[in-house]
Amino acid sequence: MGSAQQVDNYISVVANVGIGAGIVLGGQVFHGISGYAGEVGHVTLDPDGPPCHCGNCGCWERLAGQSALIERAQRAIEAGGSSSIRGITEGSHGLCLPDIVEAARQGDAVARNALEETGRYLGIGIANLVNIFNPDRVVLCGVLSLAEEFLTPVIQQTLVQRAMSDPRAAAQFVVSRFKSDACVMGGVAMVMHDILSRPGLDGAQSPRQSGVFATQVSKWVERSPQLLTHHGGASSVSQSSHN
Ligand SMILES: [Zn+2]
Repeated sequence: MGSAQQVDNYISVVANVGIGAGIVLGGQVFHGISGYAGEVGHVTLDPDGPPCHCGNCGCWERLAGQSALIERAQRAIEAGGSSSIRGITEGSHGLCLPDIVEAARQGDAVARNALEETGRYLGIGIANLVNIFNPDRVVLCGVLSLAEEFLTPVIQQTLVQRAMSDPRAAAQFVVSRFKSDACVMGGVAMVMHDILSRPGLDGAQSPRQSGVFATQVSKWVERSPQLLTHHGGASSVSQSSHN
């Protein structure tokens, strides 16, 4: 589906407030022994970094997720940086990702620096995934993919600096053409894959099977509430950072 068509070994990095990954190895979704495979957002990148809701410090998503980006811009402004988004940070609705992207398009240095540093941390984490899994492709989706024009060059540069040359050469980095909607599309694809690969099911949707499908979709969405809240301006730093 989407940017991962005709590829058997790929990783979809879903970058919202939190960061998670869908891992497909040999054409099969890798779940781990209890379903937690892909919690890449809680890999420690800085042992002295900011606290994370998981109880650890310096997790990847606290350095490269949407909240980290917004906090970077806010800190720069509080430190006296001149920026067109200063007024937004003082407003009632808070600073959102689209505000930062639009400011960066207008040449705002605070916005561009915040995006560059976030892209660097995204690239470090993706380089780690490339080294660990040696995938054909890494697909970036989630709300941060809306800033791809600023993030992609930094991620590519960081991959050159930090991923081992052979796995880096084998791995294509792309931004999903579904962008933030890729989270939902990917979740549906994973659930369909699970159901249709069960012994004895031929893909026909009996009422029982439809129920299984709906239940699994619901469970998946419950585990990823941010997927349903990124529309309508709900992407400010004030929202829950739970993944
Ligand atoms: Zn964490």
